[in-house]
Amino acid sequence: MDDLRELYQEVILDHGKNPRNFAFPDASNCEADGYNPLCGDQLTVKARVEGDVVLDVGFQGQGCAISTAAASTMTEWAKGKTRSQIDEMFELFHSVVTGKKDADEDELGKLAVFGGVAEYPMRVKCATLAWHTLEAALAGKKEASTE
Ligand code: ZN
Repeated sequence: MDDLRELYQEVILDHGKNPRNFAFPDASNCEADGYNPLCGDQLTVKARVEGDVVLDVGFQGQGCAISTAAASTMTEWAKGKTRSQIDEMFELFHSVVTGKKDADEDELGKLAVFGGVAEYPMRVKCATLAWHTLEAALAGKKEASTE
């Protein structure tokens, strides 16, 4: 767990400062806005979806390092995934950041570092905002709620 904690700092710093996919994809066909009033994080996620597959996804917005790093790693992970893969991963990710389940790198890959968020319940909504927003976009909703 100490390794994961170090990696947590590293990933949050790296992706928080230099977010990946911090631009909207060409020819996006779904989008949603997400807002986390607890922290003030706000972002827009746009994706290009064909059939059941997210071909491309990106985001823009302003938020704390955790929300930015979470959006960055989420968009990296979600490319090429199906809606059901995304639903499953979000469910797993949510149980890990809320401390209901231990982070398993085999299951989560880089996303496992967000297990560190479980120690800071105030930051759970920062970590899940981008995921909620992608889910909202895929469901055809314009706005995501972190409730
Ligand atoms: Zn935040």
